[in-house]
Amino acid sequence: MVDSRETKLRRAFVCGHPIKHSRSPLIHGHWLRQSDIAGRYTAEDVSPENFAGFIEGLRSGESGFVGGNVTIPHKETACRLADAPDELATELGAANTLWVEDGKVRAMNTDGYGFTANLDARHPGWDKGARAVIFGAGGAARAIVQAVRDRGFSQVHIVNRTVARAQELADRFGPRISAHPQDALGEIMQGANLFINTTSVGMDGENAIDIDFSPLASDAVVTDIVYVPLMTPLLDQAKAQGFAIVDGLGMLLHQAVPGFEKWFGRRPVVDETLRSLVVADMDAHA
Ligand code: NAP
Repeated sequence: MVDSRETKLRRAFVCGHPIKHSRSPLIHGHWLRQSDIAGRYTAEDVSPENFAGFIEGLRSGESGFVGGNVTIPHKETACRLADAPDELATELGAANTLWVEDGKVRAMNTDGYGFTANLDARHPGWDKGARAVIFGAGGAARAIVQAVRDRGFSQVHIVNRTVARAQELADRFGPRISAHPQDALGEIMQGANLFINTTSVGMDGENAIDIDFSPLASDAVVTDIVYVPLMTPLLDQAKAQGFAIVDGLGMLLHQAVPGFEKWFGRRPVVDETLRSLVVADMDAHA
């Protein structure tokens, strides 16, 4: 536990390329102010050529960071360069959170945790069904496939425009996962208890597609990891068709929790104040 009277400033980062649109400094800055910890969290633009050197600076302590977040395009390289990625990050082949312990760079991936914690908070009982449909098979889908599988869904169906990408995930995550082309979506949705959009469809209001949610189980939950806009066209459609919905902003907020705890020694809370702060920032940049 970090004593708030400790004079040494603990510094953490989010690094990516580009990085200026990241909302992580807003989130961690809020928690730092709230908890009165002597810490700082900054955005670092690190190009792929400089990333290995950045990790070396973290390992040696020369950079002065205690750890940080890693985002596109460094998540896979971070997992490879870390001395000790945990089990989930190793299976994913991607890490988003790093910290130094005993001179070693340790790594984990908190995206799946963020996804499940958001649903736990906003729709408890979401994980009681057997059949889940994951629409999309891009970078963000991976951690969600893993998390939904690990919550015990016995059938996890990935539907993607490019079926080969869905197949890759099915092969990686085991026998309870299957891959399907987009034109099979309606059939695959029959009786499903959970529908997750992980595609970028609807992001910034673009490329919206019409989905008939009626094949889902009547008490199914529909969630979208796209959170700009907060109410995506897909969530609008699901709500109008009578389904429970959960937006994707909480995934972003909750995935930040384990990192903050590692670097600054206190587990922060995702509450309405934080959510409103990020929504206001989204509105200001709309
Ligand atoms: P990505 O790797 O580029 O994958 C994009 C996915 O969307 C692929 O499955 C792609 O299908 C599909 N897609 C794109 N346009 C489509 C269209 N017109 N019709 C059907 N499918 C289409 O992106 P990503 O990194 O996974 O991110 C996806 C979304 O998740 C983004 O909007 C991102 O902002 C959001 N996200 C949210 C959070 C959060 O914390 N809430 C975290 C991460 C990402 P193909 O494979 O066929 O190209």
